[in-house]
Amino acid sequence: MTQYVEVALAVPLRKTFSYGVPKHQSPAHIGARVLVRFGPQTQVGLVVAHSDTPQVSPDKVRSYIKCLDDQALFPETLLQLCQWAARYYFAPLGQMLTQALPLALRQDVSATLETELQWSLTDAGEGIDLSEFKRAKQQLKVLTALNQSPLPQSQMEQIASKSVLKVLQDKGVIQAQPQPFEPDLSWRQQLQTNEAPLTLNSEQAIAVAAISSQQGFQTSLLEGITGSGKTEVYLHLIDAQLKKGNQVLVLVPEIGLTPQTVSRFQRRFDVPISVLHSSLTPKQRLNAWLRARAGESAIIIGTRSALFTPMKWPGLIILDEEHDQSFKQQEGVRYHARDLAVMRGHLEQVPVLLGTATPSLETLHNALSERYHHYQLKSRAGNAAIASHSLIDLTHQPLEAGISPALFEKIGEQLRAGNQVMLFLNRRGYAPALLCHECGHLHQCQRCDAFYTLHKSNHQIHCHHCDDVQAIPHQCVNCSSTLLFGHGVGTEQLEQVLAERFNDYPIVRIDRDSTRRKGELDKRLKGIKNGDYRILIGTQMLAKGHHFPDVTLVGLVDVDGALFSSDFRAPEKVAQLITQVAGRAGRASKPGHVVLQTHQPQHPVIQQLLREGYGPLSRSLLTERQHAMLPPSTHMLLFQAEAHEGQRAYDFLFEVANLLRGYQALEVLGPLPAAIERKAGKYRYHLICQAANRNHLQAIIEANLDAIEQLELARKCRWNLDRDPQDL
Ligand code: ADP
Ligand code: ZN
Ligand code: ZN
Repeated sequence: MTQYVEVALAVPLRKTFSYGVPKHQSPAHIGARVLVRFGPQTQVGLVVAHSDTPQVSPDKVRSYIKCLDDQALFPETLLQLCQWAARYYFAPLGQMLTQALPLALRQDVSATLETELQWSLTDAGEGIDLSEFKRAKQQLKVLTALNQSPLPQSQMEQIASKSVLKVLQDKGVIQAQPQPFEPDLSWRQQLQTNEAPLTLNSEQAIAVAAISSQQGFQTSLLEGITGSGKTEVYLHLIDAQLKKGNQVLVLVPEIGLTPQTVSRFQRRFDVPISVLHSSLTPKQRLNAWLRARAGESAIIIGTRSALFTPMKWPGLIILDEEHDQSFKQQEGVRYHARDLAVMRGHLEQVPVLLGTATPSLETLHNALSERYHHYQLKSRAGNAAIASHSLIDLTHQPLEAGISPALFEKIGEQLRAGNQVMLFLNRRGYAPALLCHECGHLHQCQRCDAFYTLHKSNHQIHCHHCDDVQAIPHQCVNCSSTLLFGHGVGTEQLEQVLAERFNDYPIVRIDRDSTRRKGELDKRLKGIKNGDYRILIGTQMLAKGHHFPDVTLVGLVDVDGALFSSDFRAPEKVAQLITQVAGRAGRASKPGHVVLQTHQPQHPVIQQLLREGYGPLSRSLLTERQHAMLPPSTHMLLFQAEAHEGQRAYDFLFEVANLLRGYQALEVLGPLPAAIERKAGKYRYHLICQAANRNHLQAIIEANLDAIEQLELARKCRWNLDRDPQDL
């Protein structure tokens, strides 16, 4: 008989806690939540093991207060996934589990679906003499209806008002009870499709045939240029799974992409689809989660954290745009949804499919070394031609809002021909700095090593790093001059200048500022599709997922900034971005043309990308990484520390480095200042650890974690661990 349970709690301690089972109760199931006392507080925790011996002496063990779930919340595989992730990311299990659970379940509430109330007659109501109610017409109507059969709340409200129901309820003749949730599983009996699938071309057919015949766990990379029909491949694979009665989990990078994906899936399949993304209310999210767990949702589509959605009959996991940065969690446990998706496939014994036009070097490495299957789609499937590319050398050119005369000319040509033009600049606001024309002073945020961005439309300067906002100053803080100008170009300025130059052509801007209001992004995207706009301006928000067939010219206003970042992934990211932006345009009758403006026309990354495309370039970059001993050929772990008193953060990392430096298998770099050393008043430092062997890295860190946590400075600064960091 189990006397104790081990409970994982959302506390920053890398251990579980023993609790006793309350008297006369059977122990809470593994995977169920319990309410416990922890110090002076009560907390919700998850039971992860049963035991006969507690971790502390039995007289010190308290019993948990109550059990919140009569069954495990997660299937065992998901519990194992969280355990694996907690270990891999060096995180407390309780923290990982808490992050994996829907927000609503982190509290003392039951994990049951909101269901409708059902009205019926009570025993007293059954025997009642209806003639007594002759004068109360409304009440009589209710009783007569319920005499036939019980009715749900929604129908009852059509018959009588709430007050009438209340009167009868108070008389004790009718009652309302919550209906138990019965999942509707009809999709498993007979799959209904709304539209016929397309006939696959041979590249698509090869991928579908191969992947749909996979048994158990296997990972595949589907590398297909934009518009090559990857989504159509997904739809065929999903179809095959649904026919077997299996559920499919589809992960997409951006919330902006979900409505589009969802509607495409809905057009094809007449099945329940759960959508999980960050703008759901906690209740909506819980409902979607529970329906998926009950097997009612045939398809589950969501962003990063939807990875942890339980499925009753898992069949396939698809991760679209696998290269996308947003799959990496940047707070709490910094997991990578792509890597955990592969691990989940392994634990559930189902295939995993990673799709993209521009594979991350990590995934490419796995595909080329045959750890993953690799399928390629090299031509566009629908009616779109591949865009052509050209370069504009900006050196010695007169620029207006960053645009060269040659690009202005091309824009004019396409507009006059009735086409759409898209300009891409990954910098929002009017200008990235406010410059004094007399003394050269650039207005800097008081709390960050960064300049304020000038936003003319709302008369503000805004620090994009700490969110500090100020009115635009009238005078220079340094010399009191009033000659203050925006320095550099942002999307707002680009829009203003283009609107002046091409005032006959409607213009739309898509960035975080212009789409802040709810529904605004959707509205603007629809406007573009309808042809309401001729000039499209955007940041990388515009580069993701959407296809704009009437766009015939894509201009990348400035690629240099991204190219010269200190991040070793910069060339990979730039090449992905350029390729993704370029992929948005064109159709067969109106092929797209992509123009890159740069001061570095000879840059080898740009050169190879234009000559050979992302495929060959990415393979060259992979070789370079191997020579430089950088990921994915080595494994990286980043310690980040920050403190108002910078020395503490630095000294903490210095001591960590001392603990770790003795190992041959580990290379330790730093402490180094972060790219932006001071942010929101805190000084930030990095310590980079690299190992050729992943297991060595794991073992060395595990062996030292306790000692690191016990360093006195560990409590005097904020710090975290980032395994496989994406941003350096
Ligand atoms: P991707 O996901 O690779 O960007 P999509 O699946 O969205 O590509 O396909 C791009 C366009 O080509 C869509 O309009 C789609 O309907 C069409 N398409 C895809 N596969 C086929 C096919 N086999 N035959 C005809 N059209 C196709
Ligand atoms: Zn000045
Ligand atoms: Zn700031």
